[in-house]
Amino acid sequence: MKRLRQIRNFMAVGSMVFVLFWSLPGFGNTLDSEKYSRVIWNYLETLCAFGPRNPGSEGYRETLDLIRKMGEKYADQVVEQPFSVRTSMSTSVDMVNLELRFEGTQGGAPILIGAHFDTRPFADEDPDPANWSEPILGANDGGSGTAILLGLAQYLNQHPVARPVHLVFFDGEDFGAKDSGLKLLGSTYYAEQLVKEEREKWPYWVLVIDMVGDKDLEIFKEFYSLKGSASFLDRIYRVAEDQGIQSLNEKMKYTIYDDHYPFHRMGIPSTVLIDFDYPYWHTLQDTLDKCSIKSMFSIFSVVVKTIEDL
Ligand SMILES: [Zn+2]
Repeated sequence: MKRLRQIRNFMAVGSMVFVLFWSLPGFGNTLDSEKYSRVIWNYLETLCAFGPRNPGSEGYRETLDLIRKMGEKYADQVVEQPFSVRTSMSTSVDMVNLELRFEGTQGGAPILIGAHFDTRPFADEDPDPANWSEPILGANDGGSGTAILLGLAQYLNQHPVARPVHLVFFDGEDFGAKDSGLKLLGSTYYAEQLVKEEREKWPYWVLVIDMVGDKDLEIFKEFYSLKGSASFLDRIYRVAEDQGIQSLNEKMKYTIYDDHYPFHRMGIPSTVLIDFDYPYWHTLQDTLDKCSIKSMFSIFSVVVKTIEDL
């Protein structure tokens, strides 16, 4: 009994030391929370200042330029994957996935971390029908995931992890009208190209981040993620618990066709982290004031710690 208590005390001290080291700025390879909170938030502010970022818009072009520029600055390699989507008999839209590759220190199959950078061209869930044809700003839906990936690029440049990491900014996730079938366009195209490659080149794990900026953040386990990547989800939840992050709920809720789905279909363990209980989803109210630095950073730090140990 006494021995048990000793072990328990030792473990409690151990985790306190861990938390302390984790939060100390500039301590070895640990996360400078103040710096990276600011970095991520700045990216989100910049993206929102570009305005709506649906394909063809000015904001879309500015977003591509920003990702390319940060890729050149921080990544080992920037890969562009252009493709074209037929939207009717006579029209098509040019799109592009951008991939920032980090080699890692040990090699092996890469971890693919993805987010869609496009925003929805029309606010078709807006309470006011007059807004249904207006493009959304997508601070949370499109912005939050993109900002976190850009923050990861900056972080991985300074703190490489063992495995290669491929940060993929997917185009055309939110492009089409309901029932048009024109969704997940970038990730579907990416997966179609991957099928042609040898299996050794396939990702070890696919993690998609979408709508994680909500002030009132609560992320449930998503159906396909649980079905195809249970052990990775467990790992994420364990890290979150270690870090005292409360926004990850153990329960399963929602079946979501997000950018992880084309990879799940290929049999690759694929996870989406998404807070789908967001009242401003696909409305003109999906703006910066609905997001928080704290939510954004909590997901960033969970992702960083999770991929460090893979
Ligand atoms: Zn959306």
